[in-house]
Amino acid sequence: MPTTDPYAPDNIFAKMLRGEVPAHRVFEDDVALAFLDIMPQTPGHTLVIPKLAVRGIEDMPANAWGPYMTRVQTIAAAVKKGMEAEGLNLRQYDGAAGGQTVFHLHFHVLPRWGGEMLRRHGDRIEKQDVLKEQAARIRAAF
Ligand code: AMP
Repeated sequence: MPTTDPYAPDNIFAKMLRGEVPAHRVFEDDVALAFLDIMPQTPGHTLVIPKLAVRGIEDMPANAWGPYMTRVQTIAAAVKKGMEAEGLNLRQYDGAAGGQTVFHLHFHVLPRWGGEMLRRHGDRIEKQDVLKEQAARIRAAF
């Protein structure tokens, strides 16, 4: 069942899709946009959002998952390569009780290195020059 709450077109990711707020973009096509998380849990933490106006997993049309997850896979591979990561986590927080804070569907791509801890979700804002350098590394890895 789709969630009952309507999609809010003034959410921060909708504004990014419209180019109204800046983002350290690493990928964009007609299906998805990917950019660095401003409060990364690991270096190179990337978010992948569909271009459809959907809040969460129940709202995404069944036939849109294939194209979207194909982008998630491609972007995850570029994040891993560009950040020289040893592994990855894919995460999706669904609904307020699930930890979701921005109500436009997104997957988190988290590069991982052995022994390195994850920072808390939404812990602190990263410096712009660090995000800029990491975004360039990831863009160069496609
Ligand atoms: P979630 O809690 O799963 O909805 O994740 C939302 C994510 O969006 C959090 O990890 C935030 O750090 C991130 N975020 C919020 N605002 C921005 C922004 N302007 N640019 C990049 N990432 C953002």
